[in-house]
Amino acid sequence: MLSLEAARQQILSRLSPLPVESVTVSQGFGRFLRQDIVAPIDLPPFDNSAMDGYAVQSADVAAATPEHPVPLQLTGRSAAGESGGPKVEQGTCLRIFTGAPLPAGADAVVMQEDTRTDPGNPECIRIGDAVKPWENVRFKGEDIKCASRVMSRGDRMTAARIGLMAALGIDAIEVARRPKIALLATGNELTEAGGRLEAGRIYESNRVMLAPLLERSGTIVRVLPLVPDTLAATREALMKAFAECDAVVSSGGVSVGELDFVKAAFEGLGGRLELWRVAMKPGKPFAFGTANGKHLFGLPGNPVSALVTFLLLVRPALQHWQGATVVDPPQRRVVVAEVFENRGDRRHFMRARLDESGQARLAGSQASHVLGSLAGAGGLIDVPPATTISPGSEAVFIGFDD
Ligand code: AMP
Ligand code: MG
Repeated sequence: MLSLEAARQQILSRLSPLPVESVTVSQGFGRFLRQDIVAPIDLPPFDNSAMDGYAVQSADVAAATPEHPVPLQLTGRSAAGESGGPKVEQGTCLRIFTGAPLPAGADAVVMQEDTRTDPGNPECIRIGDAVKPWENVRFKGEDIKCASRVMSRGDRMTAARIGLMAALGIDAIEVARRPKIALLATGNELTEAGGRLEAGRIYESNRVMLAPLLERSGTIVRVLPLVPDTLAATREALMKAFAECDAVVSSGGVSVGELDFVKAAFEGLGGRLELWRVAMKPGKPFAFGTANGKHLFGLPGNPVSALVTFLLLVRPALQHWQGATVVDPPQRRVVVAEVFENRGDRRHFMRARLDESGQARLAGSQASHVLGSLAGAGGLIDVPPATTISPGSEAVFIGFDD
């Protein structure tokens, strides 16, 4: 059976990069850059004040103290959005506001809180504290230098990065076209939420759970109707799904039962099954295939298996497809507070939550159908085959990041 790494590698190698499109910076949220970004301007674009106060020559106020304030003559003002006001000469100062251009001649800003004015003489500002040269001044280019590279091809567009781009005056960026994903679920037992639950049936949860995750992975999702467990219905559903979309994410029907038709239906349509079964728990029956440059991700039906294979195999693939540099799920080392034991021969991704001290505890039952413990977990502890992780030792924790 393929290891998880080998399976992931094999899937990534089958996906050729999607075409590029130009979008506004905001539309790029959650997507992956397909170009390097070079700063077209300095940030800040000009020297400016970090405080509301008075622009001064620091030498004038070197001896200022609250008891012996230094009087300066007020000659004008520099407000945000204006071009700087008159020059600050020796013995004078300018009213200035946060973000306003530092006027010529000034080399520091005294905070408003360290100054006083005489009620009878508003032109005289008494400076009650010394400032060092360039104190409370934000320098042109101190944040970002013009012509420096600020982001690279393959970076994900986060809110903060969108903010940076906007501050640099960049309005359009190149990203990968969003792949269209058909999301379907197979199973005679499935009923749509809101419907009446007949005997022997369960509510469908995999499409509902995965649709928002697919969207957050940068894709466009088409949620398709439930598919009954027959070869004909499964073929029909896959045919329609592939006609409309770049890839299909299915759940259920990839195991070894007589009513598991996804693989056979896919092959019947001329698809090539590239891999089936991965040495992981939950998620072993996962399948991946390619048909005419389109792809099938066949997830097991058990909801926990569906989520775990989605996070460890499907999402990395979708991100790679869109040109992402980093596709690994976010992981870190944590200390475990209780025994995590894997007696089996597959890597076991055990549902865990982090307690108040940041240590991992089992989130409850580890059976693949148990959603309660999944909902109570913050992520998964990766327990290698035939391994017992004892309390106090470290383990890899993969956060759900949702
Ligand atoms: P399968 O992989 O089709 O053999 O399904 C394995 C288990 O997952 C069975 O107990 C199914 O009832 C359940 N299951 C399959 N698909 C779904 C779904 N979309 N939502 C909730 N449970 C499902
Ligand atoms: Mg089934």
